[in-house]
Amino acid sequence: MAERDPITADVAVVGAGPAGIAAALAASSMGKRVCLLDEGFNPGGQIWRHRADPAPRAARRLLARLAQSSVKILPHASVFDAYPDAPGWRMIASTPEGRREVTATSVVLACGARERFLPFPGWTLPGVVGAGGGQALLKEGLELQGESVLVAGTGPLLLPVAASVRKAKGKLLGVLEQASQHSLLRMAPLLLVRPTKAWQAVHLGWALPYRPGWWVSEAIGTERLEAVRVSNGTRHEVMECRWLFCGFGLVPNLEMGRGLGCEARGDALIVDESQQTSKQGIFAAGEVCGIAGVDAALAEGSIAGLAAAGAWNPQDASADRLMRKRAKARRMGLAMDSIFRLRPELKALPRPDTLVCRCEDVSLGAIDPGWNARETKLCTRAGMGPCQGRVCGPILAHQFGHLSDSVRIPLKAAPLNHLIPEEP
Ligand SMILES: Cc1cc2nc3c(=O)[nH]c(=O)nc-3n(C[C@H](O)[C@H](O)[C@H](O)COP(=O)(O)OP(=O)(O)OC[C@H]3O[C@@H](n4cnc5c(N)ncnc54)[C@H](O)[C@@H]3O)c2cc1C
Repeated sequence: MAERDPITADVAVVGAGPAGIAAALAASSMGKRVCLLDEGFNPGGQIWRHRADPAPRAARRLLARLAQSSVKILPHASVFDAYPDAPGWRMIASTPEGRREVTATSVVLACGARERFLPFPGWTLPGVVGAGGGQALLKEGLELQGESVLVAGTGPLLLPVAASVRKAKGKLLGVLEQASQHSLLRMAPLLLVRPTKAWQAVHLGWALPYRPGWWVSEAIGTERLEAVRVSNGTRHEVMECRWLFCGFGLVPNLEMGRGLGCEARGDALIVDESQQTSKQGIFAAGEVCGIAGVDAALAEGSIAGLAAAGAWNPQDASADRLMRKRAKARRMGLAMDSIFRLRPELKALPRPDTLVCRCEDVSLGAIDPGWNARETKLCTRAGMGPCQGRVCGPILAHQFGHLSDSVRIPLKAAPLNHLIPEEP
């Protein structure tokens, strides 16, 4: 078979994070031909793929099982189109070798999530990066030795990010968590019944300069970040700093699911007990079903993989274990969502000249608050740049309650010659 020939599989899995790997392994353990596509070079998803240091033991086991399995892994394959192709589905991916097509009877969507950015004056200055983005840069070798770094935003991700800054010998100025101390205390009973998570929280949070109820109100600098203004609503401080790693939680990547016609509620694809979406033959697992962390991703991936292989039996003892693990992780996810809810003060931070769509240079003042998402797009081009609304969509949803009303291909940026099939 020529390298460019379409790949035929029983199950195609999009996304090789924890959910996708678990799904691929579960389906291939049932004797199915599985193709696992991911835009990254290595499998592992947001947590594990960039690691230069050894991955956690659970990850090493999973990645070793994947390497020894019959799963066909298509790395650096960015799926930009997917559509029904009886009796199943066809995925089109852009790869360094060109356009690749995969047909499969069932599909598992395990596309994960991305960071949520919220605008404040100066947020586009060089030196201001997402919290997870900063961590990814560190894993890829960013030198921080002796450089002052502030970690800010919200959510549990801030702790491993701050720990990575320390490990890279950066001068960690603080971890500003916008959720109040009162809200964070609601985590205590949840952690008491989850000793592993409690240990992780203590291990990561121990001795970190953690400041609940504080947020960044402005990034200051001319050519790059020089200082940040921070606030807790009553007190204001200016901190000199060279780097700001700032993220406001995660947003599920729903574009492919929605493009395939799968129903979503809020920020999550709707799935049944077997992780099947509203479309027969399309399953979803992990963060695309709502943010709930790696344990939910692993349990849901295994269920989705078995179901996509036609081997899901909820009566099995192992199925019961998976369902209990999924329910526990999802409960934790919902609780986290409420604990780290965004405070209203954040909406008041951007000024009229603060960019809200950085691809198309659209500032807040250019948007009439009475417009809906479509009117905003048509009048300002917000959401029409290379990120296709991935960054500004959640910003406009937070600022104005805008909900994106359509998904168009290409779902991901792809070279023009990959969009069109070659003549035979
Ligand atoms: C930036 C970031 C950093 C994070 N860091 C941590 C951390 O340090 N510790 C922690 O516990 N949790 C972290 N998380 C959360 C963690 O990712 C989740 O808890 C969990 O691992 C989700 O697993 P998943 O398989 O659902 O998604 P992911 O691990 O996000 O995997 C999804 C995969 O889908 C691929 N993908 C998406 N769309 C396409 C497409 N169109 N074509 C091809 N491939 C595609 C992506 O490349 C990715 O590899 C982070 C999340 C983000 C967004």
